[in-house]
Amino acid sequence: MRFSFWIRKLWHRHGPKRRLIVVNWDTPPDHLPTKHLYVCRENGEDWSVAMRCPCGCGDTLELMLLKEAKPNWILKAEGPPTLHPSVWRQSGCGAHFWLRDGHIHWC
Ligand SMILES: [Zn+2]
Repeated sequence: MRFSFWIRKLWHRHGPKRRLIVVNWDTPPDHLPTKHLYVCRENGEDWSVAMRCPCGCGDTLELMLLKEAKPNWILKAEGPPTLHPSVWRQSGCGAHFWLRDGHIHWC
């Protein structure tokens, strides 16, 4: 494992927590301005959450929150955000992590 990745891993687990920012985008931009999570909300319903891939590859991840979508995630939005289940990219960098209580936990 590369040293920089190891540092990043520690930072993600113990550094500042990620917050939720509510937006009303149809689709998230290719480059998100911060590392925080963006919840796309329309008519009081949360559609998806977008975040920058925490591995550092720079990709935007979009995770669906609607129960009808496959796959979909459950977002705990009170306090620091928690996502369930884990995020495992099947393409690109292949990042696999949990977001718990605003922190990234690598698998
Ligand atoms: Zn990545």
